[in-house]
Amino acid sequence: MQENRKFQKDDTLEVTIEDIGHDGEGIGKVEGYTLFVKDAVIGDTVQVKIMRAKKAYAYARLEKVVTPSPFRVQPQCAYARQCGGCQIQALSYEQQLRFKEKKVRNNLIRLGGFEEAFINQVMEPIVGMEEPYRYRNKAQFPFGTDREGNCITGFYAGRTHSIISNTNCVLGVEENEEVLNCVLSYMKENHVSAYDEKIHKGLIRHVLIRKGFQSGQLMVCVVINGKSLPKQEKLIDDLIKIKGMTSISISINMEQTNVIMGKEVRTLWGSETITDTLQRYEVVSRKEKDTESACGEVKTEFTATGESVTFCISPLSFYQVNPVQTEKLYSLALDYAGLTGTETVWDLYCGIGTISLFLAGHAAQVYGVEIIPQAIEDARKNAKLNHIENAQFFVGKAEEVLPREYEKNGIYADVIVVDPPRKGCDEKCLGTMLKMRPERIVYVSCDSATLARDLKFLCEGGYEIKRVRAVDQFAQTVHVETVCLLSRNK
Ligand code: SAH
Repeated sequence: MQENRKFQKDDTLEVTIEDIGHDGEGIGKVEGYTLFVKDAVIGDTVQVKIMRAKKAYAYARLEKVVTPSPFRVQPQCAYARQCGGCQIQALSYEQQLRFKEKKVRNNLIRLGGFEEAFINQVMEPIVGMEEPYRYRNKAQFPFGTDREGNCITGFYAGRTHSIISNTNCVLGVEENEEVLNCVLSYMKENHVSAYDEKIHKGLIRHVLIRKGFQSGQLMVCVVINGKSLPKQEKLIDDLIKIKGMTSISISINMEQTNVIMGKEVRTLWGSETITDTLQRYEVVSRKEKDTESACGEVKTEFTATGESVTFCISPLSFYQVNPVQTEKLYSLALDYAGLTGTETVWDLYCGIGTISLFLAGHAAQVYGVEIIPQAIEDARKNAKLNHIENAQFFVGKAEEVLPREYEKNGIYADVIVVDPPRKGCDEKCLGTMLKMRPERIVYVSCDSATLARDLKFLCEGGYEIKRVRAVDQFAQTVHVETVCLLSRNK
């Protein structure tokens, strides 16, 4: 085996990075042998050391940037390399967008089997962020103890559970740091311990912080391996000095588990929930030469319509983490749905009904389906809160509820919207969608590989892709959302 390999572990090489892999790693070649280099930026010439060598390729560690790429930028976070949260902070934002657009495009061509010329025709340019930092409305910080015995909090290093001490993540809101400092000094002054997952001892496991971007409301939930916080009033007194503080709670999680939140939440101060509002924009696209983008010449403006939906969020609720881009994504989904007010719409994988409630004002009837019962409870509450009466929700798997309702009650849809988790839609669900023959299908996806697979299935079953657009919800990471419109063949 060994002699087949061109290079061995610990070899040091110089390589020019020519491509970006799916996980944001740099890819380069030396004498036809492929090297994957985490933290190397496309266009860099780097010195690397081989960590793991295979026959045709190797994983190598970045030792030194010899000639930096014109696309290389200084990360805003000092821990960008170690932290598992961001993968591409050293790549300019403009290039991050090009990378994501290309990723979606390549997956549709390679995995979906669509013609390149066809994809170029239907794909619109990625919707980027205006402010690619401090966009997250939610953060969950793990707590631990350093070698000197001090309580620390921060982020997990990539693929591990060791904590990098950092209270100022640049993707999160500024208030996070204030909250974390309050918790750390409360722990120090009152001798409250951090949880140690190895021995399942210690009290403070995580702190969840959420902010309503529109409402300005802040929520703090301390997850503990215990039933109460000692001298909780000391912590509360400090936390309520922070502007916007609305809800302080504890979540009891005494299980030996990776799951962050416990099932039980007790409010210690303020309200049980915070609210936030998502606006609908009118999507105005105009043709314009856009030389940067490989995907056409469309420029888009999002203009406020005055329409909005308000959500009530508890510590356990699922809620989109980038509200600014979510508004754009859902406005696009609504635009793609082409509703006139008379349609029956199904929203599969509806979560707390975010998309359903966006659609409801423009349809005759909306039906949402979601597997998590508490999310459906939230969806129903949110419908009431917004005086929406034409949205009905089902608890269950989309691949079970949809066929059941179709076979038993002959349900009908003009439009079906799906927003599945990364693994995409179950084939049974797609099969039922084909039988229901809605005029249009809007597919919102957080994984373009499974999107490509599912689009192939739907297109073989009598649908055609009309429009595709990537939306960047997660700047500095390799994740990308995509919205796609399919229409039934005549
Ligand atoms: N559209 C929602 C949530 C999308 S995330 C929003 O924007 O808020 C995907 C959702 O699918 C999650 O809420 C998850 O709980 C749900 N889910 C996962 N598998 C499912 C299945 N088989 N059937 C129905 N819902 C499912």
